Amino acid sequence: MIGILGGTFDPVHFGHLRTAVELREDLGLDEVRLLPCGTPPHRAPPVASGADRLAMLEAAIAGEPGLAADTRELERPGPSYMVDTLASFRAELGPERPLCLLLGTDALAGLERWHQWRRIPELAHLVVARRPGADLPAAGAVGELLAARRVHSAAALLEASAGHILVRDVTLLDISATRIRALLAQGRSVRYLVPEAVLEIIRARGLYRGEAPRADRPARR
Ligand code: ATP
Repeated sequence: MIGILGGTFDPVHFGHLRTAVELREDLGLDEVRLLPCGTPPHRAPPVASGADRLAMLEAAIAGEPGLAADTRELERPGPSYMVDTLASFRAELGPERPLCLLLGTDALAGLERWHQWRRIPELAHLVVARRPGADLPAAGAVGELLAARRVHSAAALLEASAGHILVRDVTLLDISATRIRALLAQGRSVRYLVPEAVLEIIRARGLYRGEAPRADRPARR
């Protein structure tokens, strides 16, 4: 069973990486694929280029077994809709094998704004990692989906190829890429928020310097 963690990764940080490692072990996933998005559909374009975001991601996961960067969203023209990404994984895996979409509680709360969001649980299970500052949706269409589809064990994910929602606790790391970019724009240190190898790329390529910090925007994928 594989898990996929999509994001802007602008830049990748320990919140992403620790979540990927813990969920991989917790669920017994063969692999977690980390997918940097190409063109986010409904948020400002990433600050760093796709090539720079990929370089940082690859440096961050180098040598970690079971984590791999996947470039399909960077290579696909047009907006990076998660539903298209899941359909391409599903075409590779066939209809029977379970597939897990990993996402934080903040992303789950915004799921309704994703393109063709109702198709997403038809294509994959949702594994939700608690993230500081975002509660599980209790009401609305996503709250109803959660109530209807929630399971409470990793073993339940093996009983179907898609459609279950599992909520897991991971080490709570209150780190966001928005905050990292803001610190860098102010000339401040981001050491111990990102791996040293990512820091080196940020320095060597002069990334995120002098960018006006952007307000947080909900990502629509
Ligand atoms: P930004 O601040 O630019 O919006 P971000 O730090 O939220 O970026 P993304 O690349 O948008 O990072 O996140 C990709 C995925 O990783 C989402 O599902 C998000 O919920 C999850 N994620 C990001 N940061 C954390 C964290 N600190 N802990 C757990 N999950 C996280």
